[in-house]
Amino acid sequence: LYVDHPLGAGQSVPLSRDQAHYLFGVMRLAVGDPVALFNGRDGEWLTTVAEAGKRGGVLDCVEQSRPLMPPPDLWLLFAPIKKARTDFIVEKAVEMGAARIVPVQTDFTNSERIRQDRLQAHAVEAAEQCGGTFVPEVTDLHRLDRLLADWPAGRQLMFCDEAEAGAALTLEGAGPGPWAILIGPEGGFSEAERKRLLAQPFARAVSLGPRILRADTAAVAALTLWQVALGD
Ligand code: SAM
Repeated sequence: LYVDHPLGAGQSVPLSRDQAHYLFGVMRLAVGDPVALFNGRDGEWLTTVAEAGKRGGVLDCVEQSRPLMPPPDLWLLFAPIKKARTDFIVEKAVEMGAARIVPVQTDFTNSERIRQDRLQAHAVEAAEQCGGTFVPEVTDLHRLDRLLADWPAGRQLMFCDEAEAGAALTLEGAGPGPWAILIGPEGGFSEAERKRLLAQPFARAVSLGPRILRADTAAVAALTLWQVALGD
């Protein structure tokens, strides 16, 4: 279970109404029962139920059961698409071990704003579901040109482009990282963006094969290829 509270020796963790309902109403736990908690920062902690109520409760930390296991330093940048498909991309990015998820506004991106809090909550759910100890940050929407202008030194950007006939996403000669993968919107990148991306010394275009994939498929395919080559 995810909690937004420090975890450590001697810590007592108060539960929200929803968490109490889930643990004591749905899971039928009682005082003394064990619960594994994580907060995305302190690893996984074994706790026991100290107080159980309808509207709240308290869990006491016993010991760390798993250390924090952050994924490799890979960012997934993507242009948000329809709501359900954007949710899908966030969920799969968490499962596949992206360290940071960055929604990007491009020339052909439809949405001008996103619900960052909703997407972050979705990332938490995905981390809970796949037994992670780490929750990637989902950032606010960033404009592509600004991102490129403020690009962090040393981070390599692989931008997935169906117009890139040759180079498949391999990491030969890609260097030690850190990395970022960029997926375009349903309409693809504009010519101006392509030019701008190709002019960046840290960026290179990569292909995901000869067929045009939908953006959500492309995100999963790119993360998979990256995992095969470099991930853990
Ligand atoms: N511009 C295209 C069109 O309208 O025909 C389609 C764009 S595609 C649906 C959405 C995004 O997925 C692209 O911007 C790209 O990042 C990625 N993508 C899809 N297929 C790809 C492929 N074969 N190789 C590399 N990237 C791909």
